[in-house]
Amino acid sequence: MTPMTDHPVATALAAVRARIAAAADAAGRDPRAVTLVAVSKTHGADAVRAAVAAGQRVFGENRVQEAKAKFPGIRTETPDVELHLIGPLQTNKVKDAVALFDVIQTVDRPKLARELAREMARQGRRPHCWIEVNIGSEPQKAGIAPAEVDAFLAACRADYGLPVTGLMCIPPAGEDPAPHFRLLADLARRHRLPVVSMGMSGDYEAAITAGATHVRVGTAIFGGRPAAG
Ligand SMILES: *Cc1c(COP(=O)(O)O)cnc(C)c1O
Repeated sequence: MTPMTDHPVATALAAVRARIAAAADAAGRDPRAVTLVAVSKTHGADAVRAAVAAGQRVFGENRVQEAKAKFPGIRTETPDVELHLIGPLQTNKVKDAVALFDVIQTVDRPKLARELAREMARQGRRPHCWIEVNIGSEPQKAGIAPAEVDAFLAACRADYGLPVTGLMCIPPAGEDPAPHFRLLADLARRHRLPVVSMGMSGDYEAAITAGATHVRVGTAIFGGRPAAG
């Protein structure tokens, strides 16, 4: 057998998993309560396959078109691969997104919620929906303001019948993320939402300490990406 465990992605994955387990232990949490979402954006199908060979099943992509080009083949080989959309979703990509993703982490506006509901009814597919929260209330950032989560969640459920099960956030750059992580976990608890998606390569341990159920880790597993243009 090819020693896939020697692949750099396998080595990096093992290290990230060990740090997740240690952070959960230190916080008195069950490591199995933290799901690692391996963020494979910009990396090719070969890198994803190396992660799959190392036992990884949950992946995150931030562009619908890129995921559509990369994942169908992988899923044919490994049907239990789970795919999350973690980037902004334009309404003209909703059809593809509903067809492809198991979880849409970035529901961030009423128009999108409405289009998702319509498309789910059309396709008979119901990916889980998580609400993106603009946790630092930054003017230019996507997401529902913390104070609006209550009303938006109610609208998603009552007006659109969306299967909302969690919250996700990206804290403001250059600030201590811990207070933002605690605020998101608190919002989820208050609304009885079981899922809290937060923490990336630089801060996933702090996110676990604050109660993350899903951490989204790219660079620490797959290596660097070309700088965004
Ligand atoms: C790219 C991305 C990540 C992963 O970031 P890394 O720093 O590479 O771990 C996580 N979440 C979102 C929303 C992203 O766009």
